[in-house]
Amino acid sequence: MYLRWKTWKCPYCQAHWETQFFPGPIQLGADVVQCVKCGSNFRTGRMEWPEMSKSQKRTYLWQSLVIFGVLLILLIAYIAYLDYRNDSLISSERYELTTYFLYYGAIVYCASAVVMLTLKGMMIRESKSRHTERTGSFDRK
Ligand SMILES: [Zn+2]
Repeated sequence: MYLRWKTWKCPYCQAHWETQFFPGPIQLGADVVQCVKCGSNFRTGRMEWPEMSKSQKRTYLWQSLVIFGVLLILLIAYIAYLDYRNDSLISSERYELTTYFLYYGAIVYCASAVVMLTLKGMMIRESKSRHTERTGSFDRK
């Protein structure tokens, strides 16, 4: 299975800052953070919600749903492939199993999408308050 992750380190002292799995192209968060070890400020390449353009916001909301959807489809395809290779199953059973996995896959996907969007909503709220704190102005974008 194809796993991806990205580790952020302080560029001054190499202290580990954060590891993220399946990072998307758009990262929500503080642009500049302070290293807990050496106290240096460094840029993360991230953006706060009010700083993003409309298309960046859309990408941010959809990227993890797309990544998760692709992983789930690959998993279902793999399970279906194992079913088809299993000679002890008759063809109607194979068909039933595949339908079963597609059906439950769809349910798992919808439930996860709701959870992911809820979590993102919470992160966006945090991002907005961080941004307001820093700029001292309320951005209604
Ligand atoms: Zn550091």
